[in-house]
Amino acid sequence: MTDRQPLVAGNWKMNGSRASVRSLLDGLCRGVPENGVEVLVCAPFIHIPLAAELLAGSAIGLGAQTVSEYGNGAYTGEISTDMLKDYGCGYVIIGHSERRHILGETNETVARKFRHARDSGLQVILCLGERLEEREAGMTEQVLSEQLDAVIAAAGMECFSGAVIAYEPVWAIGTGRTATPEQAQAAHSFIRLQVARHDDRIADGLRILYGGSVKADNAAGLFAMADVDGGLIGGASLKVDDFLAICQSIG
Ligand code: PEP
Repeated sequence: MTDRQPLVAGNWKMNGSRASVRSLLDGLCRGVPENGVEVLVCAPFIHIPLAAELLAGSAIGLGAQTVSEYGNGAYTGEISTDMLKDYGCGYVIIGHSERRHILGETNETVARKFRHARDSGLQVILCLGERLEEREAGMTEQVLSEQLDAVIAAAGMECFSGAVIAYEPVWAIGTGRTATPEQAQAAHSFIRLQVARHDDRIADGLRILYGGSVKADNAAGLFAMADVDGGLIGGASLKVDDFLAICQSIG
């Protein structure tokens, strides 16, 4: 099996002020562990220039939370992959459940954004996850397959080489209700198997993060599972001590 470098990514969502970004990144830069984990923060667009400045020379990477599916041009209000790269973003989250279920992104939109971001040379964290009613109806695997297949069909398998998937059950995001390590492992190994049906090598190297109410006190149990390669962290990524404790729980 390939050694997959663990990744812990913070998703700040629509939070933060210039003052809070300064204090959060100051704390993270001082405390980021040297335990082999890759650490990343995904900031709202407006905070990206400041975050890039504050993270310069640090071991912490910078990402965005979404991106336009179009190249630069007449798309009022959008932010392009070129703009993100110009400001030092290496990563972008695509298909977060809040964008799918609150902001109306479909599997097809997500697939186009994924393809465009990969073609532009950005690292992508592709989010997949079922809603509570889908889990309760026994449809978790069907939902994950449909979300994944839409992206594979639009982007092709090669786009997954070096990409990251985040399994984020919608019922666990921001609710305080975390998947058990066993539930997370079952979903992660299912996702890896789906990818392996197309390409074994890519599946083996694919990092699959768990996201959904990860906290300092449940992170180690989740990260200990064989197919859990790190976490995508929402609420707890806004607090220096909590986020650093989660980063330290790996390994
Ligand atoms: C997220 O926003 O991706 C997330 C997992 O949020 P939280 O950790 O707050 O559940």
